[in-house]
Amino acid sequence: MLFSDIVFSHFGLTVLVAVVNFHNFSLIICRALHIAWARSPIADILEVLAPPGCSEHHTGRAVDIGSGEVGPLEAEFELTPAFTWLHDHAHQFGFNLSFPQGNEFGYLYELWHWCFSERRPNR
Ligand SMILES: [Zn+2]
Repeated sequence: MLFSDIVFSHFGLTVLVAVVNFHNFSLIICRALHIAWARSPIADILEVLAPPGCSEHHTGRAVDIGSGEVGPLEAEFELTPAFTWLHDHAHQFGFNLSFPQGNEFGYLYELWHWCFSERRPNR
């Protein structure tokens, strides 16, 4: 069974974000600068969002996954059976959390962001 089949058929898991091109990623950063986080310096924004051109979402290998149990991209996702299943089984399909707690890149913990890489298991 494919990872995508399981994501769509178990625990109400859904893909929230998949591929984002450079232009749209630039728009996300601009929106963050001018609207949502108007008082945040760019350094604060870049702790949460990769600079355009540097996101794994450009590669087609990364997906942000959520479930209907909690809001999208919320920390409470970690408390759901869906996240427990991903934590325990996603690596079997070559998917790993790119930014686990205390990750070497200094990014915030992104428990929804999973990337395919058979050569980089983090378990
Ligand atoms: Zn992501």
